[in-house]
Amino acid sequence: MTITILVYDNESKDNTLLYQDYLKKLLPHMTVITWNDITDCKNIDYIVTGFISAENINKFPNLKAIISLWAGINYLISQDGWNKNIPLYRMIDDKGLTAGMREYVIAHVLYYHNQIGRSINAQNHKKWQSYRPVLARHKTVGIMGAGVLGRDVGYHLAQLGFFMKCWTRTQRDDNFADNFYGDDQLLQFLQGCDYLVNLLPATKETNGILNKERLYMLAKNAVIINSGRGNVIVDEDLITALDDGHLQAASLDVFHEEPLPRHHPFWSHPCIIVTPHIASITNPDTASHYIADVITQLQSGKSPKEGLVDFSKGY
Ligand code: NAP
Repeated sequence: MTITILVYDNESKDNTLLYQDYLKKLLPHMTVITWNDITDCKNIDYIVTGFISAENINKFPNLKAIISLWAGINYLISQDGWNKNIPLYRMIDDKGLTAGMREYVIAHVLYYHNQIGRSINAQNHKKWQSYRPVLARHKTVGIMGAGVLGRDVGYHLAQLGFFMKCWTRTQRDDNFADNFYGDDQLLQFLQGCDYLVNLLPATKETNGILNKERLYMLAKNAVIINSGRGNVIVDEDLITALDDGHLQAASLDVFHEEPLPRHHPFWSHPCIIVTPHIASITNPDTASHYIADVITQLQSGKSPKEGLVDFSKGY
């Protein structure tokens, strides 16, 4: 019996068709359909989607797996009422998603590190204001959540010369950084960071993790780059730490509520750069290879571990 894959990119019809095209080429012996082509829900073996409601998941009684187009699966798994025994894979896309995150974070770190804003400001006032740039090796970057994305970002920042610290839930041994793990080592990790990059997933444990106490553990004039999830930051505490000069700036790509509400103080804060959750996006051409690989492995009886979401951990 033929294997049927339902592709449903809830954000883009064009992308849905692109995924369908790529997957048809990569998995020629399988049937790849979109929502409008469904004739019998019982025939669907796999769903490839960014987000799908619990109600819709439940329409498909014979699902073998769901493959998320996004690395962050918090919106999907926080819904009750669907069978969490269905394996869920989150996106891992080295050439697309990982590369994009690397470029976003490095661009923002270097923007502050090279004081580009200061030069723009001086130029606006036609002021020839000289200063001595500091080399990367004199600055420390902390990666909060050194998983697939965080480790890649950390490795490349280390290549630029930054002193790196990484924080994870379980012990790791990345040789480009000083490694910290678990709640007990969080303060030690934060201490002395000039840049703090958040790439933690949104879970119960990461909610509000960057509160006043922790923000003040960072080096004076530290910069926050949040391209993980908005839930980690206590917004008012970040604003306090910026306003009283303990922190220098923040680049924020993710927020408690998205789109960021128009009245939110982040929009007009002089020390905050807001980007609209575009730090990194999944690219159909590269991501399709991961999707095809997961499905091929599952079809051959294997249970790939890479990207498999652990519902008990929430990521
Ligand atoms: P990942 O490989 O699962 O990495 C998550 C990391 O966070 C792991 O190192 C994990 O530790 C650590 N972690 C989780 N909970 C923790 C806790 N309570 N305490 C300490 N460390 C904890 O995920 P990823 O692929 O790197 O993606 C990370 C996140 O980036 C996603 O969840 C998503 O929210 C976000 N993202 C944002 C964008 C954007 O455009 N802004 C794009 C893609 C992804 P262990 O290694 O010990 O498990």
